[in-house]
Amino acid sequence: MRPLADAQRQVLETVPPLAEVATPLAECLGLVLAADVVAPHNIPPFNNSAMDGYAVRSADVSVTPATLVVIEDVPAGSVPSRTIGQGEAIKIMTGAPLPAGADAVVRVEDTVPAEGSVEILEGVASGTSVRLAGGDIAAGSTVVSASTRLRANHLGVLASVGAAHPVVRRRPVVAVLSTGDELVDYATEDLQPGQIRGTNGLVLATVLAELGVTVLDLGTVGDDASELRNALASAAEQADAIVTSGGVSMGEYDLVKAVLTELGGIEFWQVAMQPGKPFAFGMIDGTPLFGLPGNPVSVFVAFEQFVRPALLHMMGSPQTFRPRLTGVIEEPLSTNPEKTVFVRVAVSWEDSTPHARPSGGQDSNVLSALASADALAVVPVGTGDVASGSTVDLEMFRYPEDRGLSDG
Ligand code: AMP
Ligand code: MG
Repeated sequence: MRPLADAQRQVLETVPPLAEVATPLAECLGLVLAADVVAPHNIPPFNNSAMDGYAVRSADVSVTPATLVVIEDVPAGSVPSRTIGQGEAIKIMTGAPLPAGADAVVRVEDTVPAEGSVEILEGVASGTSVRLAGGDIAAGSTVVSASTRLRANHLGVLASVGAAHPVVRRRPVVAVLSTGDELVDYATEDLQPGQIRGTNGLVLATVLAELGVTVLDLGTVGDDASELRNALASAAEQADAIVTSGGVSMGEYDLVKAVLTELGGIEFWQVAMQPGKPFAFGMIDGTPLFGLPGNPVSVFVAFEQFVRPALLHMMGSPQTFRPRLTGVIEEPLSTNPEKTVFVRVAVSWEDSTPHARPSGGQDSNVLSALASADALAVVPVGTGDVASGSTVDLEMFRYPEDRGLSDG
């Protein structure tokens, strides 16, 4: 049995980052920049007004009220044609270019318009309500750095500098395959004796979609070596990674390991973690295969610990693991000290500190306790008993909204 951290390192050192490709910006959400994006020009591109009002020479309004001759009107999107001279003003809208000669803008609220002129009620210092060219981003500076995983806020700033096709690493295609003769479609109404509804395929497709990869749903195969061989060989051709569930334990019908050995090779099997111990990792013709156990909670935990980090690595992100918070455990825990144990916990916040309670039964088949969990509490190797009130590391996998209008 391999220590968890060793196994994670081996996976990340084995899976290859995907190719770099220029990609339309609108398709880049969740992908990782492969190169810095540098601003080709200043943002804002020109000095402009931060207010609706009048562009003035601040020296002309040092004594107020002052009356200035209005020589032009400049809405946003148009360009002033005149230079402001002494005693003159130009009417200007927010975002419009600052006219030559002007060094400040007086807000419209501090003025009284008249025929061909304006009365200025409040003086302004030089620079007031002026946004300088390059004040946000200077030409030649890095706007978003290589290795950044792109979110909506990054897409906005990239759009502002015209980076319409940034170079990112390709979005992985991930095949999902459930195995097990007992499994039927979850839409099945009447279960026959011995049958259960398959849930792993749906959960895996969903967590993969949340991660932003393209899911190739290969459905379910029975515990049959030739069926499995065909499915895995075709998955390896079509996908950048394969995720299977079931068939990696000790049983006679646990065929995934055997077929993986035949088609490619097993890198390792069994990790000192709970749940998820039977996890198997291998390669088929350069395509990594993550052989998750069948138990639904093991699937989730092994996905979190191996598949998600590996896919982020393939996508080019140096940050592959979820953030850990330090929280207080509200019930005593008693776990196997020979394994890294992940306890499914519900998190509540008290004075900005997360407090964690086991969210239900901790057996690896108890999917109901996962439904109400927000985090995995990590009990490291070497620790068996954790007293109530002590601190634990929490890997948050869910951070839901927790205030409505009635909460003020
Ligand atoms: P296995 O690892 O194939 O021995 O499966 C372990 C347990 O997980 C068994 O009780 C299976 O019935 C269950 N299981 C396997 N695959 C799934 C699935 N796709 N959905 C729900 N339960 C499953
Ligand atoms: Mg099975």
